[in-house]
Amino acid sequence: MAPTRRLFDENAYIKDFKTTVLSCTETEKGFDTVFDSTAFFPEGGGQFCDLGTVCPVSGGEISAEGIYRDSPNLKEKIIPVMDVQEDREGVIHHFLAKAIPAGTEVFCVIDWERRFDFMQQHSGEHIFSGLAHSNFGAANVGFHLGTEETTLDLDVPLGEEQVAMLELAANGAVYKNLPVEISYPSEKELEALPYRSKKKLSGKVRIVTVPGYDICACCGTHVAKTGEIGIIKITSFQNYKGGTRLFMLCGRRAFADYQSKNRNVLAVTNGLSVKPGEICEAVKRLENEITEHKIYESALKKELFALKAEKLGSGEKVCVFESGLNPDELRRYCLTLAENFKIAAAFSGEGENYKYAVASKTENCAAIAKEINAKFSGRGGGKPELVQGSCLGNPSEIKDFFDNL
Ligand SMILES: [Zn+2]
Repeated sequence: MAPTRRLFDENAYIKDFKTTVLSCTETEKGFDTVFDSTAFFPEGGGQFCDLGTVCPVSGGEISAEGIYRDSPNLKEKIIPVMDVQEDREGVIHHFLAKAIPAGTEVFCVIDWERRFDFMQQHSGEHIFSGLAHSNFGAANVGFHLGTEETTLDLDVPLGEEQVAMLELAANGAVYKNLPVEISYPSEKELEALPYRSKKKLSGKVRIVTVPGYDICACCGTHVAKTGEIGIIKITSFQNYKGGTRLFMLCGRRAFADYQSKNRNVLAVTNGLSVKPGEICEAVKRLENEITEHKIYESALKKELFALKAEKLGSGEKVCVFESGLNPDELRRYCLTLAENFKIAAAFSGEGENYKYAVASKTENCAAIAKEINAKFSGRGGGKPELVQGSCLGNPSEIKDFFDNL
């Protein structure tokens, strides 16, 4: 089969088009359908495929503006495009939810919101990678354009200042509203062209140029002018395989991210009664206060445990229930009790769910833990002098168990 005519290469802004079905074969992934020409971009070059719908033209339900008419009959005829793949021969395969016979003339609609979003991310990536290349000699060695996140991997380690500089310069290219040019240079012209490419290319090479910023071999879809990209924002970056992995948002995604972050910032500033620029300081202050409170609380608990233990006196065995103790407090309380009792057990919890600690200076607590676990569906253990765990049971049953130990 001849390579499919690629309408998206000729014009990335085709949102709907008419074409003819050349073949349609049932597969596990749906009906593998080949058209005479297509504006559906197939998955490749780190970019997901386009999605959309296909509908037979016959019946005249498609309006002159190139959109489906809202008729109940038509709804049944509209077929979702689930996946688009290109094979080695350049034939583009559309995987449809239903079969359409070969020879049928169809009207196709691209999910434009999804596609334009990809165009914004992809074009932003060109500018950023081009700048990273010209400023730091960095090669883009990995690019992934997901539906929510875009990552680009550079083979050079970059610091915060360098990333901020590139980000600022990339947004400068947006403000200039430069044309994004597509060209197919001759082999001779190509030899003289300092273009970026992941692999060695031959034959007809598609060159994407953002004047002054990037020259790159690429068969993806791009915006026509850089102003359409909108904001270019690196949300985070990290060391990756000796280079840098950057997380990037462009256009609508960056705007949505700003909206969400702004909402969060306002909620925090209202709660803390500070200005947006003072959040870090205010949170640090809170952290310090919490640490001080924790130290104070710990000292108070120590005193409390000593007073409670004193009140219980001394003897062979003691088994106490205290509400609201965390495992560390439970351990400390139990050890305090074990100063004056041969075996001390402390439980904390609610209903039938308890955390426990058992301590003794003379007896083997690990053996006691085994018995608790067996009798009260428990888990846990530890050293002979101290064990901790959790179990299920009611306080009177547990107390009886200790009395008979
Ligand atoms: Zn591209």
